[in-house]
Amino acid sequence: MQYVILLTVLVVSVNAAPTMPKNLIHLFSDTNLGEFGEFFEGDMILTKEQKLAVTAAMEGRNGLKGGAKRWPNRTVVYHIEEDDFDEDQVKIIETGMADIANKSCLKFVKREHDEHAVVIQGSANGCFSNVGLSVDDEDGEVNQVLNLAKGCFRHGTVVHEMLHTIGFYHMQSTYDRDDYVKIVWENIRAGTEHNFAKYNNDTVTDFGVPYDYGSVMHYPETAFSKNGNKTIIPLQENVTIGQRDGLSESDIIKLNKMYCEDSEENSKDVM
Ligand SMILES: [Zn+2]
Repeated sequence: MQYVILLTVLVVSVNAAPTMPKNLIHLFSDTNLGEFGEFFEGDMILTKEQKLAVTAAMEGRNGLKGGAKRWPNRTVVYHIEEDDFDEDQVKIIETGMADIANKSCLKFVKREHDEHAVVIQGSANGCFSNVGLSVDDEDGEVNQVLNLAKGCFRHGTVVHEMLHTIGFYHMQSTYDRDDYVKIVWENIRAGTEHNFAKYNNDTVTDFGVPYDYGSVMHYPETAFSKNGNKTIIPLQENVTIGQRDGLSESDIIKLNKMYCEDSEENSKDVM
């Protein structure tokens, strides 16, 4: 009986998500997954072009040439779907933006007319975002979204999704992650293994910043576990992974290197 009710809820939720981009996967299998849904790497939605580039990169071929794009003029233009949120939630969203802005040169500016903007919505299940400025060259403009369902309202989770919007991928996908964490494949839920893909050195840059267990972009130890056992084990003792309190020191450094300095590394994608 419970099962039937859950299914009904899911169907309703899917129908109630009319603002999802048409060309992106949107499957909802669990309302309690938070970041760990069925999007690419759990909570990232990639354009067709990005997906192809990432697949190629995972296979050790080309880098993420047309990967995560930077927002121009160090400015993220946004629109909050006010009807989807209550006052407290809007405050948490605004605090997230203010935190990033205060610690970098980035600005968040409300959409005024019909310019490209990330639409911050709560109408779909889960917490997810496009990666970087998402304007699809072939098909015209992508409907860029940052979705924050009820379970996403933690400062660190909101900031995590905003960093995807800005252009960051996940920490544990970086090329040298095997020197820092062990992936326990036998504990990973079947069909979600791609979430643990690692990108090659040509694809991503860490801006020379060492691997950061404390990044807000790192998965926790039991991400996508099928049995509650660990899927990611840090190789260093006494470290914690998967914090969602807020930006780490290294997150802030990378954010600044990515947007606030001009360098060659800025043409690469960021973990
Ligand atoms: Zn994520």
